[in-house]
Amino acid sequence: MPISLRGIDFLITYNCPSQCAHCCYRAGPGRGGRLSAAEVTGYLRQVSGHPLEWVMLFGGEPFLYMDDLAAMVAAVRRETAAQPIVFTNAYWAYDEAFATQRLSRLRAAGLDRISLSVDAFHSAYVPVARVALAIRVARALGYAQIDVDNQWIIAPELETPTNAATRRMMDLLAEMVDLTGVHVSNSRTRPVGRAAERLPEILRAVGRMPEGLCEAKGLCIAPYYLGEDLRQPRTVEVFPDGEVNLCAGISLGNARRTPLSQLLAGYDYTKHPVIRMLVTGGPVALLAEAEAAGYARLPGYIDPCHLCYEARRFLHPKQPALLAPAAVYDPDR
Ligand code: SF4
Repeated sequence: MPISLRGIDFLITYNCPSQCAHCCYRAGPGRGGRLSAAEVTGYLRQVSGHPLEWVMLFGGEPFLYMDDLAAMVAAVRRETAAQPIVFTNAYWAYDEAFATQRLSRLRAAGLDRISLSVDAFHSAYVPVARVALAIRVARALGYAQIDVDNQWIIAPELETPTNAATRRMMDLLAEMVDLTGVHVSNSRTRPVGRAAERLPEILRAVGRMPEGLCEAKGLCIAPYYLGEDLRQPRTVEVFPDGEVNLCAGISLGNARRTPLSQLLAGYDYTKHPVIRMLVTGGPVALLAEAEAAGYARLPGYIDPCHLCYEARRFLHPKQPALLAPAAVYDPDR
């Protein structure tokens, strides 16, 4: 069944001033990769017939490439009826005049919704005061929607030092800026990418790492922004190397080699060996394939996504086109 997009995410770079422990894209300083404004404009033209509601521009850190970012926001407004959203860690909001200059430039290009990261992971690199300043400036410039995204280990209620630190960061933010009207979203950090290495460490340290194989007998419930159903996804992510992903590291093809419109029109989960396996057997089916190829299972997995990612990481060299980009699987250099 062809994919009819409700949203599309563009990771415009893997570069980021931060190197957060939870990042499924393994973004960080020197990670490289770049989508140009011209390339994003070309992709937007290819999906202009889709019922697009939003276009997310993020990374890595999209504010590293301000000229491109402003041009991309303008292109979303020009080429589609969708709302552009920019997702940032607010590292750039260290000075009111500078923050105002950056956000007013994007506002003039057509941006009226911005999402800001606040949690223990991001706060290790970006002081929460910068997020507070970004909120104040965005509000003064008339941004219609300001979001704050919290990443939680498993769930906000789980008592871990990391989740407690996220709660403290949100309390601090509320002391610094009025959060009335700011939409706060609670995201579960999936143990994919760098998080697959760091979350087990964090959970073992507080004695909560599951013992034995996880209960991943059920099928993959894809994240809400993908449409929760891999048979009929509603969102794709385009990576800095042109890879078109559903879940991070599962590729439908490369839009630099095959037109994006063609990849979407030709989507059929039964023809994609990895997605078919996830839909019909779940992550344990992927584990069985990996074990048949010599993979040694870990003593425990946090959840189905951790199991899925670890099996995929083992299979990645054998199926590099289906399990791409390599940046999601390569350990940090
Ligand atoms: S089970 Fe695998 S494909 Fe499904 S959401 Fe989790 S990591 Fe992604």
